[in-house]
Amino acid sequence: MKALVKFGNEDKQVEIQDVPIPEISQGDVLLKVKAASICGWDIEMWRHKMANPVKVPVVQGHEFSGVIDKVGSRVTRFKVGDRVVSETAAYICGDCNQCLTGNYNLCSKRKGFGYGTNGAFTDFVKVPERCLHKIPDNTSFDHAALTEPACVAYNALIQMSRIIPGKPVLIIGPGPVGLFCLQIARLSGSNPIIVVGTSIDEVRFSVAGKLGADLIINVEKENVTEKISEITKEQGCDLVVDAAGNEKALKLAVDVVARMGQITKIGWGPKPINFSLDPMISKGARIQGTFSHVWRTWEDVLSLISRGKIVMEPMITKRISLDDWLETFEEIEESKIVKTVILFNRK
Ligand SMILES: [Zn+2]
Ligand SMILES: [Zn+2]
Repeated sequence: MKALVKFGNEDKQVEIQDVPIPEISQGDVLLKVKAASICGWDIEMWRHKMANPVKVPVVQGHEFSGVIDKVGSRVTRFKVGDRVVSETAAYICGDCNQCLTGNYNLCSKRKGFGYGTNGAFTDFVKVPERCLHKIPDNTSFDHAALTEPACVAYNALIQMSRIIPGKPVLIIGPGPVGLFCLQIARLSGSNPIIVVGTSIDEVRFSVAGKLGADLIINVEKENVTEKISEITKEQGCDLVVDAAGNEKALKLAVDVVARMGQITKIGWGPKPINFSLDPMISKGARIQGTFSHVWRTWEDVLSLISRGKIVMEPMITKRISLDDWLETFEEIEESKIVKTVILFNRK
């Protein structure tokens, strides 16, 4: 079968290769992939700029849905033909403190699909039963493929932040995860919801507008700090979500977070930062890191998707077949796209 493989540790060492259909073990299913969405992480792997090392060769793709094609002898909760979506933690140790307390997203031995183990930019993928969730009947495969980034946002805002109805939330970085954070903040009654980006984010700004952002600010055109101070009557934002990850984003977050407020950091930024965090002390504010999601997050988010509370359609700019990956990766790198779904096994 054709698969998109990162085969080396240099820039652009990604190509379509022919790979065998995976063998499954007793606790796995063989999933026939129907839809897989492209993540910013896939672009970083292609350009070899990842924050964490990746073992090559590896089939990319970690946001995916499909139909169960085969089940291992120990699989009890799913059967052939079930429509399912998969979590991303393909391997966890099961024995560490984090695994044993249900926080397996933070297992130090965790290996994710699409970088720690073979992922879903191909026709078939091997998935442990533990990772699977049933797709609600009214939800399509391409919408279900986007459950993963929605779960990242839900975990960050609902499980890892203190979100207060009626209080301002600032979202820095209107990429897919930032836009899902906007949707969750809206569901939580945050007001106003402010989204910040740069001139390359024009397409994403227009989606943010459709999703109900109260204010969209281009940092290159306006003084964000002044504007936020004006809107919040000098109180700042109780919750600031850093979905960008670079130094400028965190500096802005520190400048505008309210006293006793929280900065929730989702965006990765491998480069060191070069400014003082002392304002966090005088403001009595905190920075909270957040990563991935757990079983409960998925069930809650799937329920919100099926009830139309989290919407997918404005997030999807393009649907493509695997052969068109390169052109699309280039467009995503230029921020021309919010989300692209690759469709597989169309017949
Ligand atoms: Zn992702
Ligand atoms: Zn563990």
